[in-house]
Amino acid sequence: MNGDLIKFDRLRGEMVKKQIEARGVSDPKVLSAMRNVPRHLFVSEALWDQAYGDFPLPIGHDQTISQPYIVAEMTEALQLDKQDRVLEIGTGSGYQAAICAEIAFRVYTIERIHSLYLSARRLFDQLKYHNIVTRYSDGTAGWREESPFDAVIVTAGAPEIPNPLISQLAIGGRMVIPVGNQYSQELIKVVREEEGIRTVNLGGCRFVKLLGEHGWKEL
Ligand code: SAH
Repeated sequence: MNGDLIKFDRLRGEMVKKQIEARGVSDPKVLSAMRNVPRHLFVSEALWDQAYGDFPLPIGHDQTISQPYIVAEMTEALQLDKQDRVLEIGTGSGYQAAICAEIAFRVYTIERIHSLYLSARRLFDQLKYHNIVTRYSDGTAGWREESPFDAVIVTAGAPEIPNPLISQLAIGGRMVIPVGNQYSQELIKVVREEEGIRTVNLGGCRFVKLLGEHGWKEL
């Protein structure tokens, strides 16, 4: 077990160097979060040896944990600080929420599949992520009671940016969201300004569908 810990620590160091720093992610807070979070614990034990590879992995229910580089790129785009409150749509394995929770003050994360919601909740308790708040519901409507958020991250592909998520973003707040059709999307960064929003296209990506009232209506 101890040997395992050392092995996974080494694999994680290599992952950060070769997959993340080498491709231009440079925010020290993001790099240190990616070094800290034990990614293998967010996938089933049969996949532990692949957990630090340069690819997404299945987490059941036809869903996936994103490739490490995508997680790092999206987190960097959020420009997180230690006082920030973050909303995540699509808890999945819980890995992206844990990365944000290493940097930000609090993370609110919503998942629509009950068993994924439950296993992520259990893992956050086990790993003592006391600053992650979970919710089982349709995240396309956001989390109005806890808004506004300094950052919003959507980890499933949307046909368009859900309006409630824009209105729950603080002035100066940042959002990253994959927008496109069901086969490919563009990763869009949205910054909410005093008089509207500014968007930047960060490039192509591929995510599972964001299903819900303000997302895709069916599978
Ligand atoms: N951030 C996750 C990636 C999960 S994949 C991780 O780090 O592992 C995308 C997740 O979004 C899936 O678990 C899917 O069930 C969830 N999802 C899709 N539409 C949703 C919605 N409307 N509300 C909440 N979760 C949603």
